[in-house]
Amino acid sequence: MHVSEDNVIPCRNVDVVPQQQGRMLWLERFFFKYRSYIGLVHFAVFWVFLALLFVPLFLDEVSETDTVFTHFTLLANYTMWGLWFPLVFLSVIFTGRSWCGLLCPMGAASEYINKFGLHLKIPAFIRWEGMPIISFLIITTLGQTVGVRDHPEAIAYVFGSVMLAAIIIGYLYGRNNRVWCRHMCPIGLMLGLFSRLGVVQFFPKRPSHGADQYHESSLCPTMIDLRHKKESRHCIECFKCVHPEAKSSLIVRARAPGEEVENIHSHNPNWAEVWFFFLGTGSALGGFLWLVLPLYQDLRQALGEWFIEHDQFWIGESGPWWLMSVHPERREVYNWLDFMTIVGFMTAVMLVFATAMFLLNLLSSSIAHAGTGKDRRQFWGSYVELAYQYMPVAMVSLLIGLGGKIFELLGLVGLGSNGILTIKLVLFGISLLWSLWLGWRIQTVQAVPLGRKVPGQIVGTLTSLFIAACWWPAIFGI
Ligand code: SF4
Ligand code: SF4
Repeated sequence: MHVSEDNVIPCRNVDVVPQQQGRMLWLERFFFKYRSYIGLVHFAVFWVFLALLFVPLFLDEVSETDTVFTHFTLLANYTMWGLWFPLVFLSVIFTGRSWCGLLCPMGAASEYINKFGLHLKIPAFIRWEGMPIISFLIITTLGQTVGVRDHPEAIAYVFGSVMLAAIIIGYLYGRNNRVWCRHMCPIGLMLGLFSRLGVVQFFPKRPSHGADQYHESSLCPTMIDLRHKKESRHCIECFKCVHPEAKSSLIVRARAPGEEVENIHSHNPNWAEVWFFFLGTGSALGGFLWLVLPLYQDLRQALGEWFIEHDQFWIGESGPWWLMSVHPERREVYNWLDFMTIVGFMTAVMLVFATAMFLLNLLSSSIAHAGTGKDRRQFWGSYVELAYQYMPVAMVSLLIGLGGKIFELLGLVGLGSNGILTIKLVLFGISLLWSLWLGWRIQTVQAVPLGRKVPGQIVGTLTSLFIAACWWPAIFGI
């Protein structure tokens, strides 16, 4: 039977008819037909991933004359940090969390092992919304102290640990789902947050009224109650819920970039994401600033002198490899002083950044909403919605910062430093304008009167510029 908009059963939600616009029936049919092959893709990516992680451990040291074309260790490093990370990050704009559903070997391994697992009830501490934030902060900080961007052993250790944890959690908890991906993956929440900006949406043909709901025995591996689905963040695009001819499956539609964030009011805005946004961005920022700011060296020096003056000489000793970088062969050996200073500096930057963001958004929200008759709950609801406007500028900052190697690749193919700088500035400029647009649109949906909207927008603009200024030295140099 051919499915057209005419034979989709009308539903109770009046918002649904416009949601049928942009439906990609061809994509639904393609994945419905070939979905059984996704397992083969997972299998292949799994082995490629393992090769990138572990083969470099068995190779000779990289020499100064080696390049990505002559030494697999360099190729693996560039593949992870110059291609995989920035492209996965960028792909959420164009294809949502397709990496998660179609390619990621860690999530796939977790789901596969679950078939043979213990199927234990998911404990409350795992279901806690703050769990992926903790997971992200631990991995980001550990990545810095063990040198995950430079050393093959550190890449194998960090990503191998994430893979192992995904498999263990998959074996222990849940039934026919991905507890790891929904609740614990350090990458998943970040991809989920930014997928809200993306142009792909999975939407129920027969949606139910009410907010998004969690449903452990759902067909969906990330436990989305499909009839209530309105937000993108937990959808890993596995296409399991898509049946082009059925009357109650989900459709796939293309939408304008940022559409979900503009209308975040009806797409389950929530505190957990906002906290992740503030804290996670701050932590990633700290992970860069310690490398480039002289302030870090000054603090390290002062702290070291204080310990020496108090006869605490252990501070100069090196710690275990699983906590800090210990690579004498590459002339990089961190001691406890390095470890404590990096962790302390990252934590301080995170707290300062998150506090500043909290206060700036509070100022913007107060200008737009205080004294308008809203009760406390409504005010904080508006606060949370307005926080989403900063996503584009934060995302591009993270992309240029964390994915800096992709720009080095552009240098390898002949683009000069001025050209690379121009590309970064253009990306930055676009993200800034996009954030300003989102701020304006969110306030429009909130029905903020013009007299409040303009000053609220000015503070929103200053907040976006604040984010840009924080990342400036990390991305463009001091
Ligand atoms: S949530 Fe994490 S483990 Fe799961 S598929 Fe996405 S990146 Fe992979
Ligand atoms: S909503 Fe559908 S496509 Fe998205 S994760 Fe759930 S089952 Fe997969």
